[in-house]
Amino acid sequence: MKKTGAVYLVGAGPGDPGFITEKGLSRLRICDAVVYDSLASPRLLDEVPDQCRKIHVGKRAGHHSMKQEEINRLLVELAREGLSVVRLKGGDPFVFGRGGEEIIALSKAGIPYEVVSGVTSAVAALASAGIPVTHRAVSRSFHVMTGHTLSEEGELPADFAEFARLSGTLVFLMGLGNLSLIVKGLLKQGKGSETPAAVIESGTLPGQRVLRGTLKNIEERALAAGIESPAIIVVGEVASLDFSSTLKQPLEGCRIGVTGTGSFTVRLRKQLESLGGVSECILGLLIQSRRKGEKMKEAYEKLQSYTWIVFTSANGVREFFRGLLEWGYDFRAVGHVKFAAVGKGTADELLRYGFSADYIPEKYQVQDLAVGLKGLISGEDRLLIPRSFRGSKELNEILDETGGSYDDIVLYDVALAGLKAENRTEALKNLDYLTFSSASGVEAFFREADEETREALAGLKVVCIGDITAKALMDHGRKADIIAGVCSIQGIAEAICRDWK
Ligand code: SAH
Repeated sequence: MKKTGAVYLVGAGPGDPGFITEKGLSRLRICDAVVYDSLASPRLLDEVPDQCRKIHVGKRAGHHSMKQEEINRLLVELAREGLSVVRLKGGDPFVFGRGGEEIIALSKAGIPYEVVSGVTSAVAALASAGIPVTHRAVSRSFHVMTGHTLSEEGELPADFAEFARLSGTLVFLMGLGNLSLIVKGLLKQGKGSETPAAVIESGTLPGQRVLRGTLKNIEERALAAGIESPAIIVVGEVASLDFSSTLKQPLEGCRIGVTGTGSFTVRLRKQLESLGGVSECILGLLIQSRRKGEKMKEAYEKLQSYTWIVFTSANGVREFFRGLLEWGYDFRAVGHVKFAAVGKGTADELLRYGFSADYIPEKYQVQDLAVGLKGLISGEDRLLIPRSFRGSKELNEILDETGGSYDDIVLYDVALAGLKAENRTEALKNLDYLTFSSASGVEAFFREADEETREALAGLKVVCIGDITAKALMDHGRKADIIAGVCSIQGIAEAICRDWK
């Protein structure tokens, strides 16, 4: 029987992805399709399963947003395919989010739905700007209005007068284009020209800007500052208060570009952002596995004959064990072998599968790994080295010298994803740091780098995880500015924090 689909209307929060709810996240993490607006943080898309369909229906440079009826139809169609669909909306789905219209369409089609409320910008953007939406003895209520419908004929709707006369905090969403009209209307209804007012652009986001003033000058100030959408207008006594956070984060103001595989860059970016930094994925690497290929099949069949398995990356560990299970074996098939890992990250990954490395070189370098292994193995030993297509040949060369017996098998390759080469160069110009976490990442980066990209690298600090990565960088004529001694996400973040101070 065909699975019945469902639609979850999930509030993404005001901008900063950290404001999504636990419940919203849990729906995102298991959905088959996500239909999202421009206001929902793109970072939340990192949370969906790999095979999830991602459909953007908001406005994007050069593209029109999808019409509401089309969105309604899309949701119904996806659910009828039996998919579990998340409709991800900025803020809360019902605060000027047209969530109700979507629900009516779903109900008509008999599709089950659920609403997961979100943190609305009408409150959170103010808080982020240091403006309390109510404050004892200052503002006893708050009122949220759209500033959008006001303008059609260049006049204010009939109930604007009552709204304007309320004594609490007045919050206008989608009002930037009508700021002038709103200010005039409020003054006309008797608000004093000294009434505090504020405009908040991109609240909770790294580019947040807050302008304060009064009804007399707020329009002029917003114009002068070139404030852009999304922006919220706040009018009332609270707009003169400033309770913005006084705690400075260690990476505040720091812009970091990251390179690496999907799961790695997502985890690293989370860590950097939790420390107050702003990050961007400059170069994504996709693992193209060959674990299902003939070569690996043979290696799995011959597992009994190997005495050591040597891993030179965490990706290799992951791919190897996935393949092991997929080919119908279990962990007993490697119960007899010893494991060597090039560094801590690789050894940690191994530990996740329940195996502690028998050998890790003191310095996390392939050369040291080879030299160290040389001292540990005898003529009886047979080694399996499952590695990346572009991995270093150094290990083999040293083992060859000693007449070591090994099978060196390509287990995966990496392909490029993320920003296009030309956009990458532009993005580099705005960064303080760029991180590399593997030699293959460095190779991939330079494969597409032109003169301008290389020059852009001069204007920032390059951070490498471990010596192998730094060496690969050096081979391309760029010295690493920082080498994270501890090869982990934590290690990179700490190294950047120390330097940024
Ligand atoms: N459902 C959303 C609002 C959608 S209407 C919510 O609950 O937040 C879109 C308007 O919301 C924008 O025009 C702007 O006025 C406001 N808005 C949304 N996110 C914002 C942000 N991060 N900073 C400032 N205004 C924002």
